[in-house]
Amino acid sequence: MSNDPAQIIRKIIHIDMDAFYASVEQRDYPEYRGKALVVGGSPQGRGGVVATASYEARKFGVRSAMSSKRALQLCPDAIFVRPRFAAYNEVSRSIREIFSRYTDLIEPLSLDEAYLDVTNDKLNIGSAIEIAKQIKQAIKDELQLTASAGVSINKFVAKIASDINKPDGLKFIGPSSIEDFMERLPVEKFFGVGKVTAQKMKQMGLHTGADLKNLTEEELTRHFGKVGRFYYQIVRGIDNREVQPHRETKSVGAEDTFAYDLTTLEEMDAELEKIAQTVYNRLTKYDLKGRTLTLKVKYSDFKQITRNQSFPTAFNDLETIGQTAKQLMAVVYTDDARIRLLGISLSNFGDVTPKQKETREAGPGDQLELEF
Ligand SMILES: [Mg+2]
Repeated sequence: MSNDPAQIIRKIIHIDMDAFYASVEQRDYPEYRGKALVVGGSPQGRGGVVATASYEARKFGVRSAMSSKRALQLCPDAIFVRPRFAAYNEVSRSIREIFSRYTDLIEPLSLDEAYLDVTNDKLNIGSAIEIAKQIKQAIKDELQLTASAGVSINKFVAKIASDINKPDGLKFIGPSSIEDFMERLPVEKFFGVGKVTAQKMKQMGLHTGADLKNLTEEELTRHFGKVGRFYYQIVRGIDNREVQPHRETKSVGAEDTFAYDLTTLEEMDAELEKIAQTVYNRLTKYDLKGRTLTLKVKYSDFKQITRNQSFPTAFNDLETIGQTAKQLMAVVYTDDARIRLLGISLSNFGDVTPKQKETREAGPGDQLELEF
């Protein structure tokens, strides 16, 4: 983030496919159309979770990352199917090909979601809203799927906008309405605000962007750490992050070597909280969310171990990063451990892959394991 609070005006579109996996299934299997469909793990097996639910299933309260068992309780008539990642990957490639007709600045966030910078208007269409309309139409005509688009002058607002009129939505939030929009936004919708932070904000009487705006940058930083500065800017509609087309990042992390060996769990937790903050800041900077968190531990005898945990949906909130790292730490902790270095990293920035199950390490705290 620059120190200059001035807004850079770009033309950004955020495209998000509607109920992606479920929509592909309903497209390919007519018998699923109009039905409550859950793509994910089996409700009979242990640990099965919902990857995506069709809109018909969502009416019953079924949501992504919920256990499949719970989904079945909420919606006993739901049809459960396993994901077909090869099919989703192929659709994803086709979507990106459509994007590339309109811009070369494409930043995929997952199989079904991307930022597009259309400032340069490759086809001389003349308006970002019109470009978004044409992309949505091409996806509908060529792939028989619907997408929602958010159009604005920066990534943050475009992403929030795409969620507003889902499914098959198109929402434009222009420069003159951004501040007003941000003021009315509930705090939990702010980028990177996890449940714990949202709770803390509410206890402080901060419920909307307007409440956050009443605080100075110094006050926000005091209460929320470095990310306070980001809140300060974003609540004023300022987000100068660029669309990064060739992002090849495989993992983002941070580690710390200690002058003295750590021997108590309290010390380790305290250090992990600091490292989690750094990782969080880096993820926020690059607007990355990962599904796998890896804890690295190096002992005084230079022996090194890693432990990781994967989640069904990508995350980058500070609470989950810190809590997961501490849980993994508690598992590997022993009374006689002398620890020289600790590190946390996030990886798996794409969507769920079938490989995930084999590659992750087993260990306690695995209740979120996917069972496909
Ligand atoms: Mg989506």
